[in-house]
Amino acid sequence: MKFTPAKPAITGETPDSLAARLRERGEPAFRAGQILEWVYKKRVRAWDGMTNLPRPLRAWLADTFELMPASLVLGRESAADVTDKLLLELRDRSLIETVIIRAPQDGVGLDHSRKTICISTQVGCAMGCAFCASGLAGLKRDLDAGEIVAQLLQVCRREDARTPRARAGPASFDNIVVMGMGEPLANYDALIRALTIVNAPWGFGFGARRITVSTSGLVPKILRLAGEPLGFRLAISLHGATDEVRGKIMPVNKAWPLAELIPAVKTFSARHGRMVTLEFILIEGLNDSPDQAEKLRDIALDLHAHVNLIPCNTVEGLPWKRPAPARQERFAGVLRAARVSVTLRREKGHDIDAACGQLRLKTEKEREAAA
Ligand code: SAH
Ligand code: SF4
Repeated sequence: MKFTPAKPAITGETPDSLAARLRERGEPAFRAGQILEWVYKKRVRAWDGMTNLPRPLRAWLADTFELMPASLVLGRESAADVTDKLLLELRDRSLIETVIIRAPQDGVGLDHSRKTICISTQVGCAMGCAFCASGLAGLKRDLDAGEIVAQLLQVCRREDARTPRARAGPASFDNIVVMGMGEPLANYDALIRALTIVNAPWGFGFGARRITVSTSGLVPKILRLAGEPLGFRLAISLHGATDEVRGKIMPVNKAWPLAELIPAVKTFSARHGRMVTLEFILIEGLNDSPDQAEKLRDIALDLHAHVNLIPCNTVEGLPWKRPAPARQERFAGVLRAARVSVTLRREKGHDIDAACGQLRLKTEKEREAAA
């Protein structure tokens, strides 16, 4: 499923690919470096702002490339919380979500907090997990690399506006999680191209170890990711500690059951020497039993994995509820007792529909109603 835009996005280009285009026009290759510096370091908002380029070149660039393929249609900050959700519109009017999660640090205020950016890789999702808003309407299309990278530029623009001193400096965030809409490993080539751009010194210069890719468990792609030269971190959306329970809510478990998933995760962590994270959404009456907690504990011990417990978000039209706090604590206690590294997430941004895909879903419904 591909969208072919009239003009490719500049945010999907590398120095080599850009230099090749420039050469066709008889331009020297060093212009590629200048252009990318304007994009990532100076974060210029119009081609005409690239003042060290000859005017005819700027005009050609404007005709040939899209400077920003994802425009901001809505930015929502949660009042009680510390998430900031961006709804972005792509050139075919598709909507995607990018979330800024601020972790306040004592005494320094929110502007100096640690920031984690959650990015999307697809419009919708084909995986069909039963609890997830992103997958409710299926997959519309893959994002291209330029659209994945553009989300981070939009975040920088927003952060630059909040703290003007950060402008034209390094990227103003600390971690990237590929946990927004879509299954990143189902859009593998665009994902790797985008993360390579994010990591490159001429791009955001952002360390691979601060980038976490989250997957529902596409085993062959996990093995491929293990072989990539850049050592990204890996998170697995587990959500069930047995095939029986996982299979009820994640269709992907039929293709790649736990007996295949777990060895693949082991291969990944052996290669990269880093703890993998197991994401586990707690859903009342479905996967929150003591038996599931014990089975999850055993898997985590076997994988030396960190466990992230997330009380599920309610999604309009879906029946799932989060367990009561005491039951959440009891579940976490089973893991802690075995010294498993575990966090029970106080989920952020409930008031701005933080669960992935929900803001988009709502906006699409409003659009349909207005049409
Ligand atoms: N497709 C990838 C990455 C995006 S999903 C994956 O599944 O890992 C992003 C995260 O949002 C996943 O951990 C997913 O399980 C979680 N999520 C989806 N629906 C949710 C809900 N209703 N409540 C809480 N988390 C949810
Ligand atoms: Fe897709 Fe991840 Fe949602 Fe499952 S949880 S439907 S894989 S986005």
